[in-house]
Order: sequence, then C-alpha cells, then structure tokens
Amino acid sequence: MRPEALFPLFAPLSSLKGVGPRNAALLEKAAGPHVTDLLWLFPRDLIDRGDKPTVAAALPGKIATLTLEVVYHEPPPDRRRPYRVVCRDATDTITLIFFHANKDYIARQLPEGEKRIVSGKVELYSGRKQMSHPDHIVPPERADEIPDVEPIYPLTAGLTAKTVHKAAMAALERLPALPEWLDPAYVAQNGWPEWDRAVRNAHAPSGPGAFSPLVPDRARLAFDELLANQLALALVRARARKRAGRVIKGDGHLRQKVLDSLPYRLTNSQTQALSEIAGDMGSNGRMLRLLQGDVGSGKTVVALMAMLEAVECGGQAALMAPTEILARQHFETIQPLAEAAGLKIAVLTGRDKGKARAAVLEGLAAGTIHIVVGTHALFQADVAFDDLMLAIIDEQHRFGVHQRLMLTEKGKAVDVLVMTATPIPRTLMMSAYGDLDSSRLTEKPPGRQPIKTVVIAGPRRGEVIEGLKRQIAAGAKVYWVCPLVEESEVSDLAAAEERHAELSSILGEETVALVHGRMKGSEKDAAMTRFVDGPANVLVATTVIEVGVNVPAATVMVIEHAERFGLAQLHQLRGRIGRGDQASTCILLRADFLTETARERLKTLAETEDGFVIAEKDLELRGAGEILGTKQSGLPEFKIADIAYHGELMKAAYDDSRLILERDPELKSERGKALRVLLYLFERDAAIANLQSG
Ligand code: ADP
Ligand code: MG
Repeated sequence: MRPEALFPLFAPLSSLKGVGPRNAALLEKAAGPHVTDLLWLFPRDLIDRGDKPTVAAALPGKIATLTLEVVYHEPPPDRRRPYRVVCRDATDTITLIFFHANKDYIARQLPEGEKRIVSGKVELYSGRKQMSHPDHIVPPERADEIPDVEPIYPLTAGLTAKTVHKAAMAALERLPALPEWLDPAYVAQNGWPEWDRAVRNAHAPSGPGAFSPLVPDRARLAFDELLANQLALALVRARARKRAGRVIKGDGHLRQKVLDSLPYRLTNSQTQALSEIAGDMGSNGRMLRLLQGDVGSGKTVVALMAMLEAVECGGQAALMAPTEILARQHFETIQPLAEAAGLKIAVLTGRDKGKARAAVLEGLAAGTIHIVVGTHALFQADVAFDDLMLAIIDEQHRFGVHQRLMLTEKGKAVDVLVMTATPIPRTLMMSAYGDLDSSRLTEKPPGRQPIKTVVIAGPRRGEVIEGLKRQIAAGAKVYWVCPLVEESEVSDLAAAEERHAELSSILGEETVALVHGRMKGSEKDAAMTRFVDGPANVLVATTVIEVGVNVPAATVMVIEHAERFGLAQLHQLRGRIGRGDQASTCILLRADFLTETARERLKTLAETEDGFVIAEKDLELRGAGEILGTKQSGLPEFKIADIAYHGELMKAAYDDSRLILERDPELKSERGKALRVLLYLFERDAAIANLQSG
C-alpha cells in the first residue's frame, strides 16, 4: 500500500488550488493524471518580466510590465472583433485586446478608472501600442504576484504559461517531508540538495544555465528516478532467483536429430549462445536471458534448440512473436524441423478461431502439443499448458517487461529467453532489464555476402527502375519500401498504392505485388505468397516488412525517402536482404535537402553493417529520449531522466541497487524503508508487491 505521506501527490490535478476541471484536463494532457506528474514537468525557459517601462518607452515585440490606468471599455460590435480596453499612463495610451472575451471577467479584472499592473507582450498595430491577452493583470497592491522571471513549461494548446506555473506552485505546496533514501555520502559527494529542495529548485530556475539535465537539482531527481527503476528491476530479479527454478537438462536426442537434418552447421556464436542457455536451464535458478543478434544472424535455430531441450525433459515450449506475419514465418521455419524430430507443433494467433483454436488449446492443455508459436494471443486467459518449461519472446523491440512476465505465469518456474534483433546500447538495456544475462550472436552464418549500400538522389528513381529491369530479368527479388508519410496512415497507404501502380505499368502487373498494414491477414498472405513463391519479383511495401520476414532470394531493396526513417529502422529493413548466398544491394533514395543528422544516418548505414555500431550511433544521433519515446520500443520511458545525458547515473543506480539489496534484501532498515517510499513515488508498486509476497 502506498504510504500516506504520498497521498497528496497522487491526488488528481483537479484537487489543486486554482485548477478547475477544464485546466485539469489540459494539464493532464501535458503532464499526466497525478500531482506527481506535474512535479516532474520542469520548466524549459524563462520569461523576464523585470522590464517595467512607461508606455511611451515600451518596445514593441518585448515583454513589459506596465502600470496602467483603465480609461474605458469598448465592447465589440460583433463576435468576430475583439473586446478592447483603452488604458494609459502619464506618457501614452495602450489598448488591451481580448478575442472571444468573457465580458464579466474583463469588467471584474479591469474596472474603469482604476489602476492595474499588466504584463505581456507589447505590439504595434496601425501605429498604436496594444497588448493582446495580457499574461498577468493585478491591482497594484498585489504587484508582487507577477514574478520578475517566470518559468515557461512545455505547453499544451489552451494552457497559458501562467496556468501551468500556478498549478506547479500549488503542487509544490503539497510536498511532504520524506525521509532521505539516498546514501548521504553519495549525495554530499555530488553536491546534491535534499529531495524536496531539488524539486523546488527545478521549478524555480534562476538563469539560462538552470535548464541543463546535469545541474545538481535535476541530476539528483534523475538519479532518484533511475534508482527506483533499477531497484524495482533488481527486486523482481531477486524474487525470480529465489523462487526455485527447475533443472532442465535434456539428453540431447531431439537436438541431435534436428542438427542432423539441418543443411548447415551452427556458427560458433550460435553454439556459444546455446551453451549459455543450456547452463541457465540446467541450473536450479530461473533463466531470464536476452539473445541479441542482428537480423539474419540465426536466432531462430537457437530458439528451436532451446525449446527442444525443454521437450526432451517432457515439457512444452512457447515462442511468441510481435506480429502475425512473423509468428507464421517462425512456425513455417520450425515446423518441418520439429516434425522431423517427431514432435507436434502448433500455431496460435488472433486469427485462429473456432474449432482450429479449440483443438490447439486442447493439445496444449493435454500436453500433446510440444511447441507452440504465436502472437500475444498466447496470453489469453483460456490458454493453459500441461507443463510450460520455456517461453521465448521474439521481442524485435515491441514487448515490455509486463508481457514477458504474463507469459511466465502460464507455467511453473518458466525459463525465459528474450530475443531481440536490434542490438540495444548497454545503458538502454540496463534501463529495461537491469542485470539481465545476455548472449550475443556476433557472427553471421557463413557464405553471406556483404550488402552494398548506395545513397541516390530521389529524382533519379527512373534510372533505378531501369537498373531493376536487368536484375529482375536475372531472377532477382526486390523489396520496394515506400516512404513513411508523417501525416497519417492513409497517406502512407496512398504513397504505396501510387508506387505500386507506377511500377506495375513499367514492369508488368504480374511482376509487382503490394503489401501494407491496412490489409487483412489473408490478403497479406496472398501478396507475400505471390512474392515468395509466385510470379511477383517486386514487393511494394510500407514498413510492415520491417519485422521478421525471411525471403533468402531477395537481393535488392529500394527505400524511398530514406532520410525519413530512423537509423535502427533502416538497419532492420536492410536486414531483410543479404540473407542468401547472393550479393545484395540496398538503394537509399534520398530527398534533395538533408539535415545534418539525416546525412550522418545515411552515411553510417552506407559504411557499416554492424548492428552494435549502428545502435550506439543511433543513440548518439537521436538521444535516448527519442529512442525511448517510440511507443513500440518496449523500453521504459522516464519522466525525468534522459539516458543520453544520464548514462553514468544509470550505471551508478545499478551498482547502488545491488549494494542495497545485498545489505538489506527486505528493505527493512531505515534507509530501506525510505527506499520503499521512493519506489512508490515513482509508481513501482508492483516491485514492492514482490517484496511482500516473496
Ligand atoms: P534472425 O532470426 O536472427 O534474423 P534467422 O534465424 O531467421 O535470423 O536466420 C536467417 C537465415 O539464416 C535463415 O534462413 C537460417 O536458415 C539461416 N541460418 C541460420 N543459422 C545458420 C548457420 N549456422 N549457417 C547457415 N545458415 C544459417
Ligand atoms: Mg528471426
């Protein structure tokens, strides 16, 4: 249960003084639903209201704080024109302008004949001074309510800087006294303030230097958040370790059969990864391991061998993929191999319904199905296993910790292997997994030819198509990836359809297939089949092919408006070719004008195929905020911390959390109790549940 001291911070925003339902809704959009969310919304800039000139001296385009006498009101003749209030001081007149005004409000704020202090931007209109919608209007006796420097928050349309500032100030009034959860020596060494001081300071920036994520106030709060994150992960992990796992050590007979039927030998990387996995499964702890490897590095067969080990011990294994297409593809790869070893394997996705689905569920519950491949449909409540020993999650960056744990609830002490195709920079990995064990496939299967990557100006598309004709005549299969259009999915689709029509008219209709995210599953399958086994040599696609698809005969990829894609995404896309033993080419069509970072991205891609190098470069170019910001990343989003700046703090938080749990595994000491409060403060309640029931 959340400690009482934190209740005021988890109240809704509408509970704050001066925040009505309308503003509460807007603030919620900008920050989040609770008072805490508003506390973590830091100002980005400052407005200087210290300039207090006479009207005559006030400069148009500048913020000024004026002392005015209200002369008279001029209500508008119709709704389209603004309400005007003419004011003056000893030197000149200035008109205050209000569009869509609330008359009563203006009458109350600006009574004729009285003095008011008004602050806002001075404008010049037909040679006369005016100010539209002043930011502040107060009577002289309340002049000190207008701050000399006013912090500016990240805004949502409809909110004024004043509204957010006032709400933030009201939130600060709620700050409870909380015990210090950090090691005092560490705090002193960094020159950090106490928690509540840090929060207050973060909302009261004093100059342009105050906005860096590295100033002591913000660094301290970032560390608090990172420590909550790392401690929560460490707790989940400690509990998983404590719950005895099962010793899963197969005799190898199934694996041998499959190895014998493979047309190739495993790479050293694959063998190494398998022995690490076998080590985890064969110990009595629980496995939670990440298998990292570029597209095409051969993760699927590693997954299969691990699953076979579970089956050799009389158990079942599940492989979960992020999309329907990928699940079916894994199934098709694995099925013949598994059946050659005499096993029963099934597929289960959202598309499987009725009798077919019922049959799979029955087989899983009875244990007659040994291996199941599927999508998140595997989580559904009515899916039960006879004895699930191993869950493999092909993450491709789409699942979070939560889903991972859900699948493990389906068995007793399930071992978990998470596969990911885009290598994750180490700091980002820590943020998502803490001290997850990891195996890396650094070697490509033998016989792969390097992919030649070229960057070509978009208008030369015609030449590119001419070149394709020759390659198609020689039997090449070509992916044509359509531009990601920012505005909407609809225009994405329109672009793909347009290109499909153009290429069909040049290359012939039979030759070109189209697949996009709006198609029904069966339509997608039909298009894919035409491309993989049929007459189509060109597949025009939106980014739906990003995930997984394996067509070894595909040797050419054209990516239109490559500058619009992220580096990691381009790398993933390119990984769809170069999968066979033929030389492959990737053609990046670019816009005429490129930003500096877009140029860097395309250059990096043309220079290297090493996913680990690309991942680090991506982090450097985009910053963690953006990588984490992509909703599909499956990585946690931080409210305060930014890994691009706080990588060192992340490592420190990781070390600290280990030390804490070594000394005080139940968080019972004074500091331990304070740390519990920290976990609640950052909404890691689930991690605390681990403590209590464990
Ligand atoms: P990933 O899932 O890592 O992207 P896959 O498992 O789909 O890669 O493997 C890509 C291709 O490489 C598949 O066609 C697979 O049969 C093949 N492959 C895997 N391991 C080897 C190996 N050791 N030698 C040769 N080919 C391999
Ligand atoms: Mg794969």
